[in-house]
Amino acid sequence: MDLNSVAAIVVPRERDDLRKWEPGDAWLAGGTWLFSEPQPALRRLVDLSRLGWPPYQITDDGLVVGATCTIAELDRLELPGAWIAAPLVGQCCRALLGSFKIWNMATVGGNICLALPAGPMISLAAALDATCVLWTPDGAERRMAVVDFVLGSQQTALAPCEILRCIDLPVAGLRRRTAFRQISLSPNGRSGALLIGTLDAAGAFILTVTASTRRPRQMSFPNLPDAATLHAAIARGIPDTLYHDDVHGAPDWRRHMTFLLAEEIRSEFQGRAAVDGNAGFDGSASA
Ligand SMILES: Cc1cc2nc3c(=O)[nH]c(=O)nc-3n(C[C@H](O)[C@H](O)[C@H](O)COP(=O)(O)OP(=O)(O)OC[C@H]3O[C@@H](n4cnc5c(N)ncnc54)[C@H](O)[C@@H]3O)c2cc1C
Repeated sequence: MDLNSVAAIVVPRERDDLRKWEPGDAWLAGGTWLFSEPQPALRRLVDLSRLGWPPYQITDDGLVVGATCTIAELDRLELPGAWIAAPLVGQCCRALLGSFKIWNMATVGGNICLALPAGPMISLAAALDATCVLWTPDGAERRMAVVDFVLGSQQTALAPCEILRCIDLPVAGLRRRTAFRQISLSPNGRSGALLIGTLDAAGAFILTVTASTRRPRQMSFPNLPDAATLHAAIARGIPDTLYHDDVHGAPDWRRHMTFLLAEEIRSEFQGRAAVDGNAGFDGSASA
């Protein structure tokens, strides 16, 4: 759609250019949301595509995903075999049900900063304990967990003029076993609930709830909990008022699906543990 209030597009080439921020500016990443609805408050778009940020880097410490990495680039990424969480990357990319045009333009940073409850890059990053690296206008940077960065539907901890530079996914998260569940009201609809469970080598279990809630919620357990313990932890950790309400799902449906999908994830891990000969149960939880 034409954005009639926008009078200029600025194309910075280096970090110093980003400091020339003015009221009415917006960072332009893939533009798949910015150009999808009227933006009457905007006067300029600051195009991030020429900053030359690498889409990703694999290091000894983990995976660094540049904010301008597209969903399509991330989906094509081949990760080291020891990073057994790798299938989760593709599962989360495919939870963004856009056409190939959207996939090739939409960026990881744009998805996280837009902070829709159905943002699958938020789900991926939160579940794998990723950290946001934010560039601040004074030339410094600050870091915060993705799970803390998203404050609510289309609300983040970004201050004016701050920019998300990249997300850091630590090796420890990438080495966890994962289980993924997602549901939408319609076959091509946005996620109404997207839950990810992870289990580390010591048996610690973390459940990350997204899409059904306005912001990500995580519940941690020293071992795989039993069904009643998991149910109680979700009931305690997610107040009814936190369930999201929009055309993609009513709060009571999202709440119901959250409990159902969480139990499916728990059962999946329980089944795998039985096959491995290691039940690894514990009733305790910290949410
Ligand atoms: C058909 C269709 C289906 C979609 N499905 C989904 C879906 O399932 N889930 C979902 O979450 N979204 C969905 N979207 C919305 C949107 O396309 C995606 O969220 C996409 O990932 C946004 O990324 P982008 O790079 O296009 O962001 P843009 O549209 O360029 O920007 C989005 C917002 O983030 C800000 N921003 C971008 N990059 C940065 C940065 N590095 N630092 C700070 N701020 C930044 C922008 O200023 C803007 O406010 C869909 C859109 C369409 C058209």
